[in-house]
Amino acid sequence: MSAMPAGHDTSLRRTPIRVGISARHVHLSMEHLEALFGPEHSLHPKRDLSQPGQFAAQETCVVAGPGGAFPNVRVLGPVRNVTQVEMSASDCRTLGAPVQVRDSGDIQGTPGCVLVGPAGSVQLERGVIVAARHIHMTSNDAALLGLADKAAVPVLAGSGSRLTVFANVTVRVSDKYRLELHVDTDEANAAGLSNDDIVWIIDAPGPVTGATAQDLPMAINPATTRPVLADAGSREIAVVPAIMDLTDRSLITEDDVIAAWRQGAAIKARPGALFTPLADDARRERRVELIMA
Ligand SMILES: [Zn+2]
Repeated sequence: MSAMPAGHDTSLRRTPIRVGISARHVHLSMEHLEALFGPEHSLHPKRDLSQPGQFAAQETCVVAGPGGAFPNVRVLGPVRNVTQVEMSASDCRTLGAPVQVRDSGDIQGTPGCVLVGPAGSVQLERGVIVAARHIHMTSNDAALLGLADKAAVPVLAGSGSRLTVFANVTVRVSDKYRLELHVDTDEANAAGLSNDDIVWIIDAPGPVTGATAQDLPMAINPATTRPVLADAGSREIAVVPAIMDLTDRSLITEDDVIAAWRQGAAIKARPGALFTPLADDARRERRVELIMA
């Protein structure tokens, strides 16, 4: 495949999406709320969260595991049917808990921990998860973006040396939601993101399965081989064509062509360089661009 010229309008879906970064937090069942804070206790809202009806409570509790503890973990409201602790993979390592990346509510087989509040403690058998990254959207947003509930999409985030593609971001559709990407603090730091930054869904069919980092750019879209700049203010991103420099070679083989194709790169060859017949075929079939030095 050919490399794209700089400034090409890549296939990012048109709607910009704001980022919400989830710090470690706890959702409590009524039973556990009372165990930690006393009978008949109800949560005291401290501030509203971006998703309608959700709030950060004034209440915090200790989350403790075999490796360590976090003293002031925010409780989010309202109360839920099942208690769940959401933290980053880094937090899990501090806690001494295995990392289980899960959708919210899917806690079967996840590690437990100890919660401690002013009125008592709870030994959780399960419920510590690293929340799978996801995008909340209304059915209207989903229609505009051409996406369905539970779709897995790649998202372009960050900029410069931290420009990042988050593959397999789960779409969650409900008219109770507001359009927003939710990532944890590890993911946000990896992409250099702050709250309310803008990210874009990359137009790609279906989930990326079994992809290694090396295969990912192709798996997402042949056109997005080397995005180097995301401009939050427009639909355009600059794509710099990757070039595999083979100007020191007199013979170029099929393996070279396939290696270039895997990187989405053009081949730069010196005048007079020979392509083996198989290399020539591969180059035509896979549309690897040739640049003569
Ligand atoms: Zn969320």
